[in-house]
Amino acid sequence: MNESIPCTCERCQMRCRVSPGGDPDAKMLRLSKQPKGLCVNCAVHDFLRNTYPCNMLLDESGPTSLLHPSAREQFAEIMRVENADAKPDEINWNLIVENWELPFARQVKRSGMNPYVPGQDRPLGKELDAIEKKKPRAKRRSITPRPKEGVEMKRARNLKATMATKPRQTMIAGTIDEPPADVREAADDYVTSKRNVAKCREKMNNSLADLISKMKAADVWEMLIDNGEKKLILTEKDQIKIKARKEDKKADAA
Ligand SMILES: [Zn+2]
Repeated sequence: MNESIPCTCERCQMRCRVSPGGDPDAKMLRLSKQPKGLCVNCAVHDFLRNTYPCNMLLDESGPTSLLHPSAREQFAEIMRVENADAKPDEINWNLIVENWELPFARQVKRSGMNPYVPGQDRPLGKELDAIEKKKPRAKRRSITPRPKEGVEMKRARNLKATMATKPRQTMIAGTIDEPPADVREAADDYVTSKRNVAKCREKMNNSLADLISKMKAADVWEMLIDNGEKKLILTEKDQIKIKARKEDKKADAA
């Protein structure tokens, strides 16, 4: 057995050990050869925050969604495919959620593979909701008639009984679960629309960054818009503020 060197996680200070002998082909959660880096829990969080669309979805739903057993099962499958050095049993999901707000030394990088930076970008759900609300409501209610009083409860009881007797789904080794085509299509549509919004935001952020740099270069800190009805103000933190005021009615009358 290799001698192990004790050390601490650079983020949560958990005590770790360095054991040489990690798989060079591991694509995620690779064992460190040096006595520095992240513990397995922080490394899992680091992977999630750098992986799109996981990072965006977690920003929307919050980290507690990770405590759901299906999330763990999915993550274990990713670890298997990516040949991770860590084992799913080593991960303490409760601790990951508990330490969620601890800072990381490195920032998440925006790239072609990852258009989303948690904390910097806003979750997209709100924007999508706004788009959804603008669409006229489909006549959903007329397709499925609502059950009469009492019927619903009986049906719920029956469903519960069916679920209790139904055996748990098991996977045949060497196969991959395929979702039904319509579910797959709906999921793809969802991701595509999110990506499109992310692209728009990236474009908008780039334009803002450009505007900020040009305003700074020209030593301009305030711009008047619409006859001075609105003001665009560059704050010290480089966050653009827009102040609007109602036009002076007396001045109009004069
Ligand atoms: Zn840690």
